[in-house]
Amino acid sequence: MSLYKQYPLSVQNNLTKQKEQFEPLSEGKVGMYVCGPTVYSDVHLGNVRTFSSFDIVYRYLTYLGYKVRYVRNITDVGHLVGDADEGEDKIAKKARLDQLEPMEVVQKYTNGFHDVMQLFNLLPPSIEPTATGHIIEQIEFIQKIISNGYAYEVDGSVYFDVKKYNEDQPYGELSGRNVEDMMSNTRELTGQDQKKNQLDFALWKKAQSGHLMKWSSPWGEGFPGWHLECSAMSTKYLGLDFDIHGGGMDLKFPHHEAEIAQNKGCSGHGGAKYWIHGNMLTVNGRKMAKSEGNGFTPEELLTGNHKLLDRGYSAMTVRFFMLMSHYASTLDFSNEALQAAEKGYKRLMASVNLIEKLPAAGSGNVDQTKSAEFKGIIEKVLTDLSDDFNTAKAIASLFEVSSRINSFYQNPSDLAVIDKAIFDETIKHFRGVISDVLGLRNEVVGGQDAEVLGGVMDVLIELRKQAKFSKNYALSDKIRDDLKEVGVQIKDEKGGEMSYSID
Ligand SMILES: [Zn+2]
Repeated sequence: MSLYKQYPLSVQNNLTKQKEQFEPLSEGKVGMYVCGPTVYSDVHLGNVRTFSSFDIVYRYLTYLGYKVRYVRNITDVGHLVGDADEGEDKIAKKARLDQLEPMEVVQKYTNGFHDVMQLFNLLPPSIEPTATGHIIEQIEFIQKIISNGYAYEVDGSVYFDVKKYNEDQPYGELSGRNVEDMMSNTRELTGQDQKKNQLDFALWKKAQSGHLMKWSSPWGEGFPGWHLECSAMSTKYLGLDFDIHGGGMDLKFPHHEAEIAQNKGCSGHGGAKYWIHGNMLTVNGRKMAKSEGNGFTPEELLTGNHKLLDRGYSAMTVRFFMLMSHYASTLDFSNEALQAAEKGYKRLMASVNLIEKLPAAGSGNVDQTKSAEFKGIIEKVLTDLSDDFNTAKAIASLFEVSSRINSFYQNPSDLAVIDKAIFDETIKHFRGVISDVLGLRNEVVGGQDAEVLGGVMDVLIELRKQAKFSKNYALSDKIRDDLKEVGVQIKDEKGGEMSYSID
């Protein structure tokens, strides 16, 4: 039986505002679209959190046995400064300032984005389409919307007619906004405006003279509006109806709302069935933003080279830290939280590494009750993950498996009574969830962390053999600290001998 049948998934659907049983449109397959980065600057940690959240969604769906097509775009044109319809294109602006070709800017920051994704062990999507690679599809999309009466052209630019659309379909259903309220809250149009209504948004913008990124279209030379690319590319690769659409919470309005309107205005189909949004990252309770001076880059985080950081933290520590909260909750970044995550991560990985040193399970009189209870812990992990991808709860249960492993190591007789098949199945999922779902790996083989962890394991084995140290054996403070982090307390005893305990 497929794992997804055994552990049915529920998701918080922001379109219906309900937690729903997840049922893909076609059995065993999932189509997922996630809004990718606009590649005009370095990725900051808030972006990493958003993409990590959907990395977990992708990984867990795959782990459950679904065949997933994951599309995450690269926005390389059309995203204007200020996120609205006026102002310079973000990429063109950066190209002007740095005296580069726009495509050099795009390449530079796309490469940087990929490096960061790899560093934090995010899987690449199945398809990573770019907006500039889909100009024809976007033009065709606009033509259909115009012919359906939901868009109009003014002097080489095309706008989506929100008021007209709203007569037939509710605009604002995702963000819970009401068109009348929004209209009364927007400024009056002046004679200068091309739009019929302030809520209308650009599908195509006429290129002014000197504009760097432009293409021919039925309306003259111009470029596509920012919202349009996601409608055109999700339709092209996932169809008129698909399963999941994701993105950061800040994209819900207007970007995602506009996407739904464009899709329905074009074909009558709304696109995704489930809309999922990742929450933001705060720093000491304040929103992470470059303007606040608290938005650090992954590099600053690793080196500790930022005034808000006590020291550097490894990529896996940061990944683990992000998994310690549910994707839909805000996550507060602090040195204390990072240090706690570092301990947790090391502890979990130490128990993964300890598995190989365990004697065989089921070598004694198998106790079915104890075996079933052990199995129950890993079932809880999977049930937690199937509850709207709740990594926070799942990690708490993983720690329970981890402390069992530690105690089996200390008392092999407890392991002897566990049914071997149950033990193997539990360990298979324990390892699978940690590496395939949570994406945690042993940090850099040969690097300092691996050495420390390896050292800790060697010391543990030695301790286990001897149960005490000889008089002349002195542990360095560093090893003591590392042992403490994985739950081994070294107690000094009289006569220079030492004893230890593992919790
Ligand atoms: Zn998008």
